[in-house]
Amino acid sequence: MKTILITGGSGLVGSAIQRKFVPEDGESELVFVKSSEFDLTSLERTREMFVTYKPTHVIHLAACVGGLYKNMNQKVDMLEKNLLMNFNVVKCCHDFGVQKLVACLSTCIFPDKTTYPINEDMLHDGPPHTSNDAYAYAKRMLEIHCQAYRENYGDKFVCVIPTNIYGPNDNFNLEDAHVLPALIHKCYLAKKENKDFIVRGTGTPLRQFIHSEDLAELMMWALENYDGKSLILSVSESAEVSIGYVAKLIAKAFDYEERMFFDESFSDGQYKKTADNTRLTDLLLKNHSTVFDFIKIEEGITETVKWFIENYENARK
Ligand code: NAP
Ligand code: GDP
Repeated sequence: MKTILITGGSGLVGSAIQRKFVPEDGESELVFVKSSEFDLTSLERTREMFVTYKPTHVIHLAACVGGLYKNMNQKVDMLEKNLLMNFNVVKCCHDFGVQKLVACLSTCIFPDKTTYPINEDMLHDGPPHTSNDAYAYAKRMLEIHCQAYRENYGDKFVCVIPTNIYGPNDNFNLEDAHVLPALIHKCYLAKKENKDFIVRGTGTPLRQFIHSEDLAELMMWALENYDGKSLILSVSESAEVSIGYVAKLIAKAFDYEERMFFDESFSDGQYKKTADNTRLTDLLLKNHSTVFDFIKIEEGITETVKWFIENYENARK
């Protein structure tokens, strides 16, 4: 019997795994854990979680997560909570003999001054952007921790490196959220209150986005199939888009394009972090003759706006 435990099971990515995967074989079960059940910043509680569920496999998603402005304003939490959670989960995975761990990094933890496109081998080649250095160093230590267990004990602990993620059940907080959920919420309110829709910064920075359900599928694929070094899970079709472009898509979905403006007094953050997903796409092609059919950003945003409107009362915000 395989027991796959998903930390951060109530979050954006965890809930996408929950929607997409219902084990039918009777040979495996999925357990989704949220912070109110087990606070993973506590080693004692983390141990209790492993004793309770006896997982054979772990997908580690739990993290203190947020967009540019949360990363800038809450550095102590981003560092301390993530260091603690990651340390506790990785250590318990080893101590409790977990057969496979897939842990989650992010493309925003790569060096700031670098060449593009960035790939898995460049993760530790220089300091991250100052706006998110606290989060980035905590995440980089997660990769080092997994690597140490791989080298010393042969543990199958791997990391995946998603680009910006979005989709239903995201955190839509106006101040702390990532750009897409923050702007969806802002445009919703602007239209409701007949005000301008304000996009922070210049709109010129470039980002790659992946829908949470695509990532859910690829994380489950990595759990079954991938045993190598950290793997970048990114959008295909080199779909790098500007913040201005996605803001316009959001305004269009709300039919509110005329009232969109940029407030350049806000920081733009890192200009770009173009990631190379060749290792992933080659593996999928070689092992499964598959070209992964990523959800297009235009469709994904329209669908997420619809979800937000329909679930406004209960959405995380
Ligand atoms: P999310 O929606 O913010 O969810 C975070 C999850 O972590 C929630 O389930 C939360 O549980 C849990 N959590 C937070 N503090 C906890 C604690 N002290 N103890 C136990 N659980 C705790 O995050 P996400 O967007 O799904 O992110 C999933 C992973 O992807 C994270 O590792 C993140 O760093 C990474 N990532 C995210 C993005 C992105 O754009 N969102 C991009 C790249 C990488 P409760 O809700 O129950 O509190
Ligand atoms: P990042 O990709 O890690 O930098 O984080 P975000 O998802 O927060 O994206 C930040 C980019 O979106 C920056 O260029 C911001 O200037 C821009 N942006 C525009 N409006 C907003 C907003 O309301 N919230 C956030 N988080 N970013 C915004």
